[in-house]
Amino acid sequence: MKKHNFYAGPSILPQYTLDKTVEGIRDFAGSGLSVLEISHRSKEFVACMNDTMALVKELLDVPEGYKIIFLGGGASLQFTMLPMNMMNSKSAYLNTGEWAGKALKEARFYGEAVEVASSKDKLFNYIPKNYVVPADADYFHVTTNNTIYGTELRKDPDVSVPLVADMSSDIFSRPVDVSKYSIIYAGAQKNLAPAGVTLIIIKEDALGKVSRPIPTILDYRTHIKAESMFNTPPVFAVFAAQQTLRWLKELGGVRAIQKINIEKAALLYDEIDRNKLFVPTIKDPEDRSLMNICFIMADEYKELEQGFSDFAKSKGIVGIAGHRSVGGFRASTYNALPIESVKALVDAMKEFEARS
Ligand SMILES: *Cc1c(COP(=O)(O)O)cnc(C)c1O
Repeated sequence: MKKHNFYAGPSILPQYTLDKTVEGIRDFAGSGLSVLEISHRSKEFVACMNDTMALVKELLDVPEGYKIIFLGGGASLQFTMLPMNMMNSKSAYLNTGEWAGKALKEARFYGEAVEVASSKDKLFNYIPKNYVVPADADYFHVTTNNTIYGTELRKDPDVSVPLVADMSSDIFSRPVDVSKYSIIYAGAQKNLAPAGVTLIIIKEDALGKVSRPIPTILDYRTHIKAESMFNTPPVFAVFAAQQTLRWLKELGGVRAIQKINIEKAALLYDEIDRNKLFVPTIKDPEDRSLMNICFIMADEYKELEQGFSDFAKSKGIVGIAGHRSVGGFRASTYNALPIESVKALVDAMKEFEARS
């Protein structure tokens, strides 16, 4: 039986992506070779890379003056690559969770990284508002979706300094005004592809403003110039990303998927709010993530946690345990998760309530 996959990452991919990658593993683009064994400089793969970049541009409506690159190293490498390339001596960070905190920590190797606001006081269960970004910061960094805590910044912030975002877990889930950002980066394994590739969207004229020497492989300009072929790119993951983007385009793009994502999230949040056994960890609807939906047992029913876990598992529901640092439950409802899986979870919650 196909499971209902709520894992936070690596996570569910569209069936289309799985089917097409299986085909590509057998025979890639009619080359008679597997995508796992073909040269990244072959005309077939160069075409795949170019098409994947074009799909990113098309689906996110990326304006002129921006470049797309695909790198290894995960989103975590961007925590250090970003300040190395963009920060002379001062940057600003909004601390909304574990990943945001890790990004901030790395920036401190390069100078003064100001934490403009933090929601740590309440276990990151809200998005800080009304903060002031220092006007002399080289950039302001936000994490649009906080995968672990389940908050999301769904509105592109308006600031006067260059804006940078880690969109690892909500990229392609909704329209984004790319023109507001200097850099957007996203590890692929939440909403795009298997682990191994990171997508970076860069405004080209934001680069070249720092005085430090940058090692060649860590310089964004190296990869822009080489069109992500400076060294061997993660060929397989890029190929899989191409399939997911084709699937998304066919479905109607980010506006169409956003509608579905809103519908899925509403279904689950409504049940969490209604069901007496559970409470949501994020109270303000405005801050609630549409991608990672977190909830815990109500105080009176704490002892039922393991029971619900086992019950859900018996219904083919996997991956709903909260992050090891928070506990409780987290249902990740990424683009590829069908609404039927959300319904299965909601039904399990209702049924478990009825028999408790
Ligand atoms: C998963 C995740 C990361 C870490 O990604 P890696 O590819 O494992 O380095 C960073 N930021 C956010 C928001 C994430 O969800």
